[in-house]
Amino acid sequence: ELNSVEMLKARLREAGVRYVFAQFTDIQGVAKGKTVPLAHLDDLFAAGAGFSGPSIWGTGLPRHGARSEYYGRGDITTAQVLPWLPGHARIVCDGYVGGEPFALCPRQILRRQVARLAERGWRLNAGLEPEFFLLQRNADGSVRPADPHDRLEKPSYDYKSLTRQQAFLCQLTDALQTCGLDVFQIDHEDASGQYEVNYHYSDALSAADRFMLFKMAAHSIAESLGMVFSMMPKPFANMPGSGLHFHLSLADKEDRALFAERSDPQGLGLSKLAYHFVAGLLHHAPALAALCAPTVNSYKRLVVGESLSGTTWAPAHIGYGDNNRTTLIRVAHARLEWRLPDASANPYLALASVIAAGLDGIDRALEPGAPVTDDLYELMLPELRVRGIQQLPQNLGAAVDALEADAVLGEALGSAFTAEFCRFKRAEWIEYSRAVHAWETERYADRF
Ligand code: GLU
Ligand code: MG
Ligand code: MG
Repeated sequence: ELNSVEMLKARLREAGVRYVFAQFTDIQGVAKGKTVPLAHLDDLFAAGAGFSGPSIWGTGLPRHGARSEYYGRGDITTAQVLPWLPGHARIVCDGYVGGEPFALCPRQILRRQVARLAERGWRLNAGLEPEFFLLQRNADGSVRPADPHDRLEKPSYDYKSLTRQQAFLCQLTDALQTCGLDVFQIDHEDASGQYEVNYHYSDALSAADRFMLFKMAAHSIAESLGMVFSMMPKPFANMPGSGLHFHLSLADKEDRALFAERSDPQGLGLSKLAYHFVAGLLHHAPALAALCAPTVNSYKRLVVGESLSGTTWAPAHIGYGDNNRTTLIRVAHARLEWRLPDASANPYLALASVIAAGLDGIDRALEPGAPVTDDLYELMLPELRVRGIQQLPQNLGAAVDALEADAVLGEALGSAFTAEFCRFKRAEWIEYSRAVHAWETERYADRF
């Protein structure tokens, strides 16, 4: 083991690395960590880097005593030179408290779900699709889209809007390619100043690690170009929001695709296993919302409707369909596109919850019912009711209620974690609910 640390140090030194950012991810999906000079790297793989536990959101750790110390222990397989931060590498850490894997560490939580799959000889492949806005900061601290010319009615795939930001997009892509994230497509999305960068899928744990790397690169590069990189789910009420779709499939040890079945009688090309997985996701969708769309703002995205720049393409109802982008799960190429998540989610927690829900669907052989063949945005509420198509939770408070009521997910993620997560998110919801917003004063101030 020591030997491999020595080898890593030599390799990093050769690549010009002098510092390692020992990184972990807090409950809000924010990258945190410490900078460790290369000479002191050994410690990171022994006790780990120490942090004040209660200073990290969502740990629920006490302010004093042995359990107040949170240790980030490096995962040596994750070492990666950071091209946008000269002389630096990143190593992803797992949380330890009192010498044990910490039950509330998002990466440990995902590890446990990945292990449950591995026990059956399975692996979840996940491709995360980041959508984001490039913004500019105004003198008063507020933000606006970075490109004043990008004001088209239907800006999707627009050449001018895409190429005006090529400095950012190409620097980002180059950096990601260097880090082994194989970028295969970049486009301008449905809102002004909104983009999507697609890179190759990987197993769940590394998909979460990679997404954190993606965000770190994007924030740094945007800032260096005088812009603000934003993955806020719905920054502008009159434009579509940003999703973080997950493309999901299961594979076995021989890398066979377990979701694919050519002779699927329903014609979607899915196996029985895949249908059970879909059913698990649909069944647990209200609770999954708390983990996949975990902010007040997330629910401004998950609404039916047209905006100034056309369809919002975000899911509002619980259903699945064959290449149907108006549903929660779009089935395409024997993969499930899980359209609920946005980037305010912690990717480890969102993926862990997806695995737990899918496994429950498989274990109980749940059936998802018939696929939705309509445009769900066009169906009226009474029609949806008749068909038994449920709405997603309408706000963060309702999503947290659903997670609290979901014993299966609660147990899979760990009761201590679930209680702390719900406490944290309920506090966010209450704080928001108590605030009086500009919309209210505008509407009510002199009305009555
Ligand atoms: N921006 C949409 C969302 O919020 C998704 C658009 C797309 O299908 O790429 O989910
Ligand atoms: Mg998109
Ligand atoms: Mg997508």
